[in-house]
Amino acid sequence: MREKHNRRIVLASRPLGEPQDENFRLETVEVPFPGEGQVLLRTIYLSLDPYMRGRMNAGPSYAPPVEVGQVMEGGTISTVVESRSPDFVPGDVVLGYTGWQEYAVAAATTLLKLDPARAPISTAVGVLGMPGLTAYTGLLNIGQPKLGETVVVAAASGAVGSVVGQIAKIKGCRAVGIAGGKRKCDFVLNELGFDACVDHHNAPFPQDLKAVCPKGVDVYFENVGGRVLNAILPLMNPFGRVPVCGLIAHYNLSELSRGIDRIPMLMGAILVKRLKFQGFIVSDFAAQKDEFVRDMTQWLHTGKVKYREDVVDGLENAVAAFQGLLKGRNFGKLLVRLAPDPTIA
Ligand code: NDP
Repeated sequence: MREKHNRRIVLASRPLGEPQDENFRLETVEVPFPGEGQVLLRTIYLSLDPYMRGRMNAGPSYAPPVEVGQVMEGGTISTVVESRSPDFVPGDVVLGYTGWQEYAVAAATTLLKLDPARAPISTAVGVLGMPGLTAYTGLLNIGQPKLGETVVVAAASGAVGSVVGQIAKIKGCRAVGIAGGKRKCDFVLNELGFDACVDHHNAPFPQDLKAVCPKGVDVYFENVGGRVLNAILPLMNPFGRVPVCGLIAHYNLSELSRGIDRIPMLMGAILVKRLKFQGFIVSDFAAQKDEFVRDMTQWLHTGKVKYREDVVDGLENAVAAFQGLLKGRNFGKLLVRLAPDPTIA
């Protein structure tokens, strides 16, 4: 029988600083009917990603904001429930962008059919999806790591950072991770095979970082900004490269920070050391998707790349999980499971 109710989370108001519970609203509405060329989807996994914080703001960015009252956006992996498209049949598993809700109607043209035999379906929003592509393209195109160089990445146990360090190893570099807490650092070192990992919560963090980068830093893959960037700058080698991927330590800032203006220090380091900083958005490298999927599939199958997922159950827990992501409470690629994964026995 057709399910009647669809639960969804909408943006209730725009946050100032950290997103609060009242900035979100859980609603129950009717399950929609697909039109011609559309399918009805039931969400299995919702991907939670740091960029969603930016979409909650009104200001201009590289993508339009979510409007107040609109369903929070997000990548999803879903099962086709009803199809009015010749391209899909009920039971197909697809990658889409249907947001924080249990059911959604989507145009067939916006969906990608997944093959569960190739890799666990959840990886389509993780190591084999947007975060993996971000790491691969940002590191290889902008970081341009060379044999024997030192590559540093923060949020090293997370979706992007974990892949950056492992690709750096594949390219013959020294991979140094920065992560929050001993458990994450142990994982980065022992499971992912980085050469070193430094806990940024420890007080002597800048000294710890220096100690594990005896030859300085050639590539700093920027995921966080803030204190971590401050500690990295003095360690950068001449002609170092800095792919600027994300600045998660700044996403909840609501005003300019007081104290010393650090821009002269930053610009001075860029000038004197001839550093190359380049920001990028993963979509800039969309043309490299096939090459990425080919390489990453092979690395996964040969065990050269490993990944960790942090799966939270139930749409009602999505807000707390997202708030935690912005504070480092997740441990691995953060997913919300909205329905049982039909590909897992
Ligand atoms: P993660 O899975 O790494 O989760 C976020 C992690 O960031 C947390 O676990 C925490 O790790 C760290 N973190 C959170 N708050 C802070 C803080 N205040 N200071 C320092 N570290 C913090 O997320 P992703 O891998 O999905 O994303 C990593 C970065 O990449 C983000 O900045 C994101 O915006 C960016 N990104 C950019 C893309 C692009 O196209 N440019 C595409 C995808 C992601 P820990 O506890 O170890 O510090």
